[in-house]
Amino acid sequence: MHFDRPPQPAPGCADCAELDRLRRNARDVYDHSAVTDANVLLRQHQRAEHRRPEPAPQALSAPEPPPRRKRRHP
Ligand SMILES: [Zn+2]
Repeated sequence: MHFDRPPQPAPGCADCAELDRLRRNARDVYDHSAVTDANVLLRQHQRAEHRRPEPAPQALSAPEPPPRRKRRHP
C-alpha cells in the first residue's frame, strides 16, 4: 500500500492543530491505526475547510485593477 505524504496542519487553524496533536500522541504510543485515523480526519477537514493545502490570499475576491485611463488629446 502506497502512502501519500501525511497532510500538514494549516498554520493558525485550531482544528488542524488539534488533529495534529492527536496524530502526534498516536505516534508516541506507536498506534498506527490511530495515526492513520488522524491523517484521514485531517485530510477530510482540510478538504472541507481549506480546499487547498496552501492558502492563497490573492484568490480572495481581488478587485480588478481599474482600466487604464486614456488621455484625451486637447
Ligand atoms: Zn484546519
